[in-house]
Amino acid sequence: MKALLFLLALLALIGLIRASLSRRSKPPGTATPVNSGRQRTEQPQRMVQCAHCGVHLPEREAVTGRLGLYCSTEHRQAHEGA
Ligand SMILES: [Zn+2]
Repeated sequence: MKALLFLLALLALIGLIRASLSRRSKPPGTATPVNSGRQRTEQPQRMVQCAHCGVHLPEREAVTGRLGLYCSTEHRQAHEGA
């Protein structure tokens, strides 16, 4: 009888641990009230295209040239001849 109670207690404990783990393993960003205010002002990563080779890259990593945006200074020079 004691063994049965012990087993039940163990199962209950495992259930509690599993519940807390699954709550933690939820992907971040879905339920983070701290970031929700910031994300309204900060635009989500905008992708731009290199005017020379056509590769897509985040806007903040792009090199700005006279004729457009580029993935690197090499491509800006190759495209604009500067
Ligand atoms: Zn390029």
